[in-house]
Amino acid sequence: MGSNSKNPKFLLDQIAEFMAEEAEEMSDQELLEEAGEAARSVGLHVEKLKRTLGERTASARREQAAEWLSELPLKDMIKFGWLKLSSPSLDEKVSACLHFFDTPDVTAWRDRYRDVLEKAAFRTSPSFDSQPGAVAAWLRQGEIESGHIICKPWDSQRFQRELLNIRSLTRKKDPKHFVPELKARCAECGVAVVIVRAPTGCRASGATRFLSQTKSLLLLSFRYLSDDHFWFTFFHEGGHLVLHGKSALFLEAANMASTKEEQEANEFATRVLIPPEYQTELFRLRLDSYQVIRFARRIGISPGIVAGQLQYAGRIERNHLNHLKRRFKWAVKD
Ligand SMILES: [Zn+2]
Repeated sequence: MGSNSKNPKFLLDQIAEFMAEEAEEMSDQELLEEAGEAARSVGLHVEKLKRTLGERTASARREQAAEWLSELPLKDMIKFGWLKLSSPSLDEKVSACLHFFDTPDVTAWRDRYRDVLEKAAFRTSPSFDSQPGAVAAWLRQGEIESGHIICKPWDSQRFQRELLNIRSLTRKKDPKHFVPELKARCAECGVAVVIVRAPTGCRASGATRFLSQTKSLLLLSFRYLSDDHFWFTFFHEGGHLVLHGKSALFLEAANMASTKEEQEANEFATRVLIPPEYQTELFRLRLDSYQVIRFARRIGISPGIVAGQLQYAGRIERNHLNHLKRRFKWAVKD
């Protein structure tokens, strides 16, 4: 066969030629039997190939699913009761997570959460130390819980008026006493306020997104336990809803002034909490607890927020007057 002995096409031609020569010698009956045998053998071979291919696809899918699960805060999702598993198998975990996210498969999940994943990944460095999958799970739980809140249609003007009323809630000490009223007032304007504990890997303190043309989600975590941080984040998120249209998702990191929109939301929150007519007075305020408490009472907000604003403006050190801030205790099951 010489140099052609390793050429498959040449070999096939040789075999075909040999078989054709053989066939010349066969009767019609023998030819039919031979052809039937060949067809059966090809059929079996094709079945085997299909099986191997199927197994490879299933194994690739399992690998992809396992990788996906490793991106999610699975332990916390189970601990917080977000996932209900009937068995600890990989398939059950994947199907419970797909059900939680309401997506048919991992590819659809990546498509649906593209903006979240990109934003969270972008902010991972340096101040937003979060896992994108953990942020997506936190947001999804917020979406699920917002489904239980019946809201009137979004009304920006009304929401802005309502924010001025909500200011006075900052003086209430216990979240048990102010959260129901906060939620009710916001629901009247088309804003579903949801407070969801952040899972491991999600360091976000707040987020906003419009769920539809008429309903928005204002999501808060209780990662930050002081009243000034909680309320500033709430009014900052309110600023995004009022100022920045219905298409974008806003996700808050520790440093909230990185873009023009973040700056605007910060200014909005400051304006609502300490109206412009009091700003001069704030900057002339004698920096002792008594004066801060009096000023806070007069303008109708908590002393902790005034202390936070003085720190934010650089008038006092970050550790100064912190005793005026209230520490929230959230009812959290561990
Ligand atoms: Zn923001």
